[in-house]
Amino acid sequence: MNNCIFCKIINKEIPSNIVYEDDKFLAFLDIAKATNGHTILIPKKHVKNVLECDDETLGEMMIIAKKIATNLINKLGAEGCNILTNCNEVAGQTCFHFHIHIIPRYDAKDALEINFNESKKQELSEVLHTILE
Ligand code: AMP
Ligand code: ZN
Repeated sequence: MNNCIFCKIINKEIPSNIVYEDDKFLAFLDIAKATNGHTILIPKKHVKNVLECDDETLGEMMIIAKKIATNLINKLGAEGCNILTNCNEVAGQTCFHFHIHIIPRYDAKDALEINFNESKKQELSEVLHTILE
C-alpha cells in the first residue's frame, strides 16, 4: 500500500522505535504515546483492520502481543495493560493498516481513560434474540 504510513515504517522509509520484529510482524513505540511504552503491533502484510485479518495471522499476533505486554510490564514497572484494536473510523481507527495497541497501565488515573458509559436501556433478551437469530 503506497500511501500507508505503517507500510512505510515496515519498509524503513519512515523511522520508528522498534520493540519487536520478525518476518511477519513489527512492533514499535507509538509516536503519540498514551502511556510510557505504548506500543503498536502490526502484521507486515497490509490488511485494513482486524476483521480483514486472516485467522492464522491474528492468532500468532495475539501471542506476540502477550509477550510484548509481559516484557513492557516487567521492564517499565507497569501494573497491567490494555491490549486493544480500533476497527473502522467509528471506533477511532485513524491508521487503516491493522494494528494492536499494547498500552502499559501504571495507575487508574494515568493518561488513558476507557469508559463504558451506560446507553439507552434495551432489554438484553431482545438484543440476544437479534444476535442469535
Ligand atoms: P488508531 O487510532 O487506532 O488507528 O491508532 C493509530 C496510532 O498510530 C495512533 O496512536 C498514532 O499515534 C500512531 N502513529 C501514527 N503514526 C505513527 C508513526 N509514524 N510512528 C508511530 N506511531 C504512529
Ligand atoms: Zn499498510
